Amino acid sequence: MNYGTIKTRDIADGIGVRVTLFVSGCTHHCRDCFQPETWDFGFGQPFTAEVEEHLLTELDHSFISGLTLLGGEPFEPDNQRALVPFLRRVRAERPGKTVWAYSGYTWEELTGKTPSRCRCEVTDEMLSLVDVLVDGEFMADKKDISLRFRGSSNQRLIDLRRTERNGEVTLWED
Ligand code: SF4
Repeated sequence: MNYGTIKTRDIADGIGVRVTLFVSGCTHHCRDCFQPETWDFGFGQPFTAEVEEHLLTELDHSFISGLTLLGGEPFEPDNQRALVPFLRRVRAERPGKTVWAYSGYTWEELTGKTPSRCRCEVTDEMLSLVDVLVDGEFMADKKDISLRFRGSSNQRLIDLRRTERNGEVTLWED
C-alpha cells in the first residue's frame, strides 16, 4: 500500500486533534472528487514499517485523540490487508486513542448486507478495529459545507460499536 499524506495535527477529520493517514488507491471516481490524484494505487510513498512507527509516535502525544484513515479509499481490499495489521498495533499499543475511517463504500456494503467489491477476508476485522465510520461516496449534488466531518449529506457518521450492540445503524454523537 502507498500513502499520499500524513497530517499530525488534524482538526477537520474527526473529533479532537488527530493523526490522519491518506492512503492511495480508490475505485469510486466520484464526480468532483477533491483529490483525484489519490485514485492511483501507486501514488505517493510506500507505507513502510518506519511510517507505522512514526504514526505510533505521533499518536502517543497526550493532546492527540486518535487516528483517522482517509484516502483514496482505506477499504479497497488491498488497503484493508495492509491496514489491519497496523490497526491491531494501534489498538494494542495506543489503547486510549480512537480510530475513525472514511469510506466511499456504505456500511451496508462493508458489512456484506449489500453485495460489493469491497468485501474481503479482513473486512469484518477492520470494521471491528474502527470506532467511527464516515460512509458513502462524496455526492456533488448533495454537497453541504456546513456539515461536520463530511462533505455531502448522504454520508453518515456511524458509531460502529453502538451499531454492533444495537443491531442497526446508530449515528455517532459528540
Ligand atoms: S471516495 Fe473519496 S477519494 Fe475516492 S473518488 Fe470519492 S471523494 Fe475521491
